[in-house]
Amino acid sequence: MEEYFSQSTPQQLQKELLFIVQGLKGQVLNFSSLTVGLEWKKALSVEKETKVINASNEEQLKRVYQEMTNCQLCQLAKTRHNLVFGDGNPNAQIVFVGEAPGADEDQQGLPFVGRAGQLLTKIIEAMGVSRKDVYICNILKCRPPGNRNPLPDEISLCEPFLKKQLLAISPKVICALGTFAAQTLLKTDIPITLLRGRFHTYNGVKLMPTYHPAYLLRSPSAKKPVWEDVQMIMKEIQI
Ligand code: URA
Repeated sequence: MEEYFSQSTPQQLQKELLFIVQGLKGQVLNFSSLTVGLEWKKALSVEKETKVINASNEEQLKRVYQEMTNCQLCQLAKTRHNLVFGDGNPNAQIVFVGEAPGADEDQQGLPFVGRAGQLLTKIIEAMGVSRKDVYICNILKCRPPGNRNPLPDEISLCEPFLKKQLLAISPKVICALGTFAAQTLLKTDIPITLLRGRFHTYNGVKLMPTYHPAYLLRSPSAKKPVWEDVQMIMKEIQI
């Protein structure tokens, strides 16, 4: 390359450099049109990852909700009745994160309102807090048909909205309910039995994994470890 340039006259060199710059400019201008099909998804899912200063938690949550209210990013949009965004206090100290809406939640548009939800409400009240004082949401905002497990692409398309919700609320503690929530948030394959019982960190926030209330309905003996986990949360937020 050096050899090539040293053989050129200054005028030739100038002309060649101009030609290269024009070529590069054309490629840059073309880039957005080449990636147009991908870009809108990306823009929806990764924009505004930083907290908007001066906007209240409630306003920030509203913005996230508006951003996804008619979400069509994955196939679950076709089968859902309602998108289940989340519910509770935008200034909550604790956020509970579950897996995905079930049939009852899909019908009502609210998280944890079925049998597992009733048990979660009891756990929250046993902690000495009212359900309306905490915030409850899920990894997925739409129901997987037949309550099947969330698929990896559904999780990766939906998770950025959860990230923004958590950033808006900035709770003291996140409680991840069950395997999916814990493994998705902590980016690990470690089983819930090994993850629970101690605090982890999620973007600088303390995160306690525990068993999912639906699992407690099937295995009541797991209530004891859940109670131990929530007691650690209570100590952390000084209830
Ligand atoms: N299970 C979940 O993980 N989330 C709900 O909202 C209901 C049941």
